[in-house]
Amino acid sequence: MTPPATIEHDVPMAPLTTLGVGGPARYLVRAGSVDDIVSAVSWASSGGIPLFILSGGSNLLVSDDGFPGLVLKMDLRGISSRDEGGRTVVRAAAGEPWDPFVEAMVAEGLAGVECLSGIPGLVGATPIQNVGAYGQDVSETITRVEGWDRRTGRIVFFSNGDCRFSYRNSLFKAVEPERYIILSVTYAFRRGGHASVKYPELRNYLEEGGRSLTDLGQVREAVLAIRRRKGMVLDPDDPDTCSDGSFFTNPLVDPATAERIKAGGGGEMPHFPAPDGMVKLSAAWLIENSGFAKGYVRGRAGLSSKHTLAIINRGGATAAEVLALVREIQAAVTARFGVKVVPEPNFVGFPGQVTSSIQN
Ligand SMILES: Cc1cc2nc3c(=O)[nH]c(=O)nc-3n(C[C@H](O)[C@H](O)[C@H](O)COP(=O)(O)OP(=O)(O)OC[C@H]3O[C@@H](n4cnc5c(N)ncnc54)[C@H](O)[C@@H]3O)c2cc1C
Repeated sequence: MTPPATIEHDVPMAPLTTLGVGGPARYLVRAGSVDDIVSAVSWASSGGIPLFILSGGSNLLVSDDGFPGLVLKMDLRGISSRDEGGRTVVRAAAGEPWDPFVEAMVAEGLAGVECLSGIPGLVGATPIQNVGAYGQDVSETITRVEGWDRRTGRIVFFSNGDCRFSYRNSLFKAVEPERYIILSVTYAFRRGGHASVKYPELRNYLEEGGRSLTDLGQVREAVLAIRRRKGMVLDPDDPDTCSDGSFFTNPLVDPATAERIKAGGGGEMPHFPAPDGMVKLSAAWLIENSGFAKGYVRGRAGLSSKHTLAIINRGGATAAEVLALVREIQAAVTARFGVKVVPEPNFVGFPGQVTSSIQN
């Protein structure tokens, strides 16, 4: 098969990611149509070339060797909406940038994603890890996901239930990783609805400022303000945002384990109820209490001076340096509390796993 006409060779991937580390993509195609995707994927399959789907690059750790195959950069665009029985149903193509989408929904008075303001990346990645923040996640609004099944070569549709959403997880991440290329996501919103403020930190911020707890615009502004304080809104002038956001997910443990850790940690441990009787611990608290303060430095990698959970590239860091810091933190938390903190980002191009996430 002849390669796609628009194929690029040896393209540096670091500038295509928010952490800014990693080597080149052997091949790269920017896909602006489903035809682009199908022809590029068919070409890769026919040549036994590994494939990686790249969206906004905000949840990746790319190896220093880069990716030895085809990187398909999602550039599908377009948003359409219709009213349906008191709800507004909005379909967004996978390549639509997420935060401008949230901003547009809030401006339209559509409730359901306002607490997800300021999260980088593209729409098509939101179902993968059930993107969430401040007590809201996309599983609450997604009604349909359109995907291209790499196994059958067909377009398939998933209902909300089919997606098997859970905390930072879904079918697309845990059960059938890399099988489906997400083409579009459909969300249903409450028109004229009120904001959903469940998270204490957000509620306190709004109340202390005398702001509305229900106005979508005010809640979006509050979320953005809180996120900026933590370096969680991308800003080229803020070195603390050269990151993947939170690098570790909050561990889910059984109540007995939570009690043991609480007792061993001095009794001040934050914890939250989770589904199935589990308890969600704070990865930030575990890491801080294992000897890592905000601003911790390890070579050219380090921790954000605003947020313990964010591993940052302090300038010119390699993936190996980032990984060494990840391992150091994991070992310290395991030694101190007997709990594993698991990385949230997807690891790309590391030996032994060409494209999949590493779950340590
Ligand atoms: C400063 C900062 C703050 C953040 N805050 C949050 C937060 O509050 N909550 C949160 O949940 N996340 C957060 N993140 C993580 C990240 O922004 C989200 O996970 C986001 O959804 C990733 O989108 P992306 O487009 O950048 O995906 P990428 O990083 O490009 O890809 C992520 C994974 O999804 C796969 N993928 C992407 N698009 C598709 C597609 N169309 N079809 C199939 N597979 C696909 C990729 O192959 C990869 O495995 C933050 C990141 C940063 C840098």
